[in-house]
Amino acid sequence: MLLLDSAPRATLWLPMAAASLSASLAVTSGSQLRDSHGRVIHDLRVSITDRCNYKCIYCRTGELGALYPELEIEEYWRLIGLFVSLGITKVRLTGGEPLLRRGLIGLVEKLAAMRTVAGEPLDLALTTNGHLLDSLAGPLKAAGLNRVTVSMDAVDEDVFERITRVKGSFRTVLGGIRAARAAGLTPLKINCVLLRGFNDDQIEGFARFAREENVVVRFIEFMPLEEGRLWTPEIVVPLKEIVARISRTQTLVELPPREASETARRYTFADGVGEIGIIAPVSQPFCGACSRVRLTSDGKIRTCLFSQVEHDLYGRMRAGASDAELRSYIARTVHGKEARHHIGEPGFLKPSRSMVHIGG
Ligand code: SAM
Repeated sequence: MLLLDSAPRATLWLPMAAASLSASLAVTSGSQLRDSHGRVIHDLRVSITDRCNYKCIYCRTGELGALYPELEIEEYWRLIGLFVSLGITKVRLTGGEPLLRRGLIGLVEKLAAMRTVAGEPLDLALTTNGHLLDSLAGPLKAAGLNRVTVSMDAVDEDVFERITRVKGSFRTVLGGIRAARAAGLTPLKINCVLLRGFNDDQIEGFARFAREENVVVRFIEFMPLEEGRLWTPEIVVPLKEIVARISRTQTLVELPPREASETARRYTFADGVGEIGIIAPVSQPFCGACSRVRLTSDGKIRTCLFSQVEHDLYGRMRAGASDAELRSYIARTVHGKEARHHIGEPGFLKPSRSMVHIGG
């Protein structure tokens, strides 16, 4: 049972016994989560498993499976609730592959009933490889999920299967994307990690795909977060090159950012139909505007993708820490968030976990 041990201010829907009383209980929260660099942290990414059914070449070796334990669904709910009571407004479920996680729909239902410090529903999103989305899009929408981002690294079937290393994956994902759009999990975003020599020939095709399928395609620069050793500066396809490539055949019009912490540079086409975004953490880092913090599937807080340390929130919860103690731990941990990453600098160290085990 969740204990309330601080004076009330903001409203939060709470799990377990509280839910069975079908009452919203008020808990104290600080105003906003801030780090020591003055950034407001309002975006929480939660990995609910580090298992994955794909073996994307830029992410997994294909030899390692899951490495970390998963928490009970109620435990994620409780931990997320604590973050929300401190000012988080946006929660993205990820993994591993989150659609593999049993209890996902129930978790989404519970999160959809939570309220932010300001009393608003959470902005609730999920990132998936789309393999199981065809059948789950409807139930996820009905449970209260707002949006999905689907990872899709090629518009050519052969290239796609070479990257995911799963036969038949392309058509399955395409079906998932269409099911998500039909279910209203929109705006639907497609993430594509570009690797020189693997799928950089897909850029122009993706620009067409964005328009034809009415989806937002976002190209992501490859970061050194893979399980193996593929990353080099040369394999990264930088923002400038992507823009130049598309501009050879289409007129791109840059769109203004919607919020200060927007990670993607956004573009539309001359006729305003379709949108592409470019997320350039390597060539044009946006750490100064970062609003994110992450919770791994085993309940560790990571304040940066490239953190060298993890903070064992779940360990404290399991040892019996009160909500007030856990909140204070979260606030202190977030306060110590790193100023920036050091990709490409001398002495750069990869983090101990790769992307699939952190939660992208
Ligand atoms: N399985 C889900 C998926 O495929 O979207 C969620 C987890 S996946 C780790 C989350 C996102 O991280 C995906 O969009 C994936 O393409 C991206 N990603 C994985 N490794 C990456 C890397 N080394 N650099 C940049 N993005 C990466």
